[in-house]
Amino acid sequence: MDENKILLDVKHLCTSFFTPAGEVKAVNDVSYYVCEQEIVAVVGESGSGKSVTQMSVMQLVQTPPGRIFGGKVLFEGQNLLAYKPNSKQMQAIRGAQIAMIFQEPMTSLNPVYTVGNQITEVIRRHKKCSRREAWRLGTAALDSVGIPDPETRMKNYPFEMSGGMRQRVLIAIAVACNSKLIIADEPTTALDVTTQAQVMELLLRIVQDMKKSIVVVTHNLGLVTRYAQRIYVMYAGRIVESGTTEDILTRPAHPYTMGLLKSVPKLEKREGDKLVPIEGAPPNLSYLPGYCAFAPRCPYACQECREKPVPELHSVDGKLHFAACHLDPIGGVRK
Ligand code: SF4
Repeated sequence: MDENKILLDVKHLCTSFFTPAGEVKAVNDVSYYVCEQEIVAVVGESGSGKSVTQMSVMQLVQTPPGRIFGGKVLFEGQNLLAYKPNSKQMQAIRGAQIAMIFQEPMTSLNPVYTVGNQITEVIRRHKKCSRREAWRLGTAALDSVGIPDPETRMKNYPFEMSGGMRQRVLIAIAVACNSKLIIADEPTTALDVTTQAQVMELLLRIVQDMKKSIVVVTHNLGLVTRYAQRIYVMYAGRIVESGTTEDILTRPAHPYTMGLLKSVPKLEKREGDKLVPIEGAPPNLSYLPGYCAFAPRCPYACQECREKPVPELHSVDGKLHFAACHLDPIGGVRK
């Protein structure tokens, strides 16, 4: 891996929510990186900490009750956590350098303003240009993300568009502001399957043609396997496995990843193939055990797993495929 190509380098990030019921360890010593022109996926169930990790990168965690209390978020070498969340530096980075798009675009778009008004406002916040120029850039951005008749669409209100088109509008805003990194948090969850594929194809094209980097946060491992170069799997606030998409698909090394893969529908389904859900539920992040948090659901859990401390990530192939499991897998099957 060429270190110079790393755009975002998150190191040992820790974020907790301090509630009357106790500390909720949402992000626990999470490290990951994203290179230029790369699609990286962060995959896990609801409550795994994947979205809070990205909110922490953007310093959008509500404080209190949330608090980022450890780690570094290096974006092009500068530690974003050195800036206060409402500082001018962070405001300049959000939108202009790093854009975030969410599952339901209506939560990001204001229903009482036209799409054109909203795009031009964001463009003018980050670029010195006239309203007319911002309108032109906004129209071009809508066109670049495949929205037909962009001049007319600029005059539409968000409710006049489909969910897929609204998601494209958010991607267009990121494109118009020339953001280097787009963080897409469950970008396709509210969409039908065909539109999901279209949005993912669009993200892929943005990486290839516009030389952006993208982090896709999703609970749906099947969605990203065609698009992401690398995958991080999160469980109970920690990364439990990371590697190239091929590593994760063909040689999963953590039983949780193996479970996720078994629960993904396959195109080449054979007779007798069944979708196997992961039994049980994610743990309560206020009461994490001192051992592997996946143990209560893990089909391979043994006495050793409950006696040893929480497993650290270690390389399973001597290279860049890591897993946090006490037991060594061989080709996806444990010894
Ligand atoms: Fe399962 Fe044990 Fe590995 Fe945890 S450490 S994932 S319980 S085998």
